[in-house]
Amino acid sequence: MNRRPFIAGNWKMYKTGPEAVQTATQLAGLCSNIKNTEVMIAPTNLSLPLVAQALKNTDVKVGAQNLYFEKQGAFTGEVSADMIKAAGAEYTLIGHSERRQYFGETDESVCQKIKASLGAGLKPVFCIGETKEQREQGNTYFVLDKQVSDGLKGLGLGELSDLVLAYEPVWAIGTGLTAGIEQVEKVHKHLRSLLEKLFSSDLADRTRILYGGSVKPENVKDLMGIEDVDGALVGGASLDAEKFINIIKYNE
Ligand code: PEP
Repeated sequence: MNRRPFIAGNWKMYKTGPEAVQTATQLAGLCSNIKNTEVMIAPTNLSLPLVAQALKNTDVKVGAQNLYFEKQGAFTGEVSADMIKAAGAEYTLIGHSERRQYFGETDESVCQKIKASLGAGLKPVFCIGETKEQREQGNTYFVLDKQVSDGLKGLGLGELSDLVLAYEPVWAIGTGLTAGIEQVEKVHKHLRSLLEKLFSSDLADRTRILYGGSVKPENVKDLMGIEDVDGALVGGASLDAEKFINIIKYNE
């Protein structure tokens, strides 16, 4: 199966609106001759419509970092999937470890958010990953299996064609530590067979599985060389357009 490589940038809580537009515009210029790789950036929700507007006729796509699963209502401070979609996003990050860690995100709320995204026509980038302690205790696969099966609970085969999975070991996010090639290889292979077991071999074959965790220009080529790695979710190194383009052009 020929899965299109996908490189996504998570801008977390960095950049004001004007700063986000400036970096996004610079990045779009640098990406003008990129054809085979899909590129997406996820700015803050506040910058999202500005960035989406700036990237309108470019090849760089836009995603949100989070949303709330209810359609509308008295949920002060929250933003719905329809609002994200109307702001110009195509993707949403769901279940990022920082949201699980600092904002009480659970497998159940992740599942509701994935459903809300799909219902609004947004493509979810569903983030999963084990902590350092869970890995050291030998629980990596148990944790990942639970995150995937609970996060996708109640969803049918036909609804998942736009799903992207992102494996992000928590201990590798923002720490400068990257999982070893062999570790990434094993987990991605495992995740693809899990999708096959839970859904179908066709879905497992078509679903892109990204790696995230201190990806940088120096390690992206080796990571992308792994058979079941179809892309990267990049935090810190996506904030600078010149640095990020060197990740996007991992093959050159
Ligand atoms: C992330 O935020 O998803 C991430 C992987 O961050 P970093 O690349 O900085 O480790």
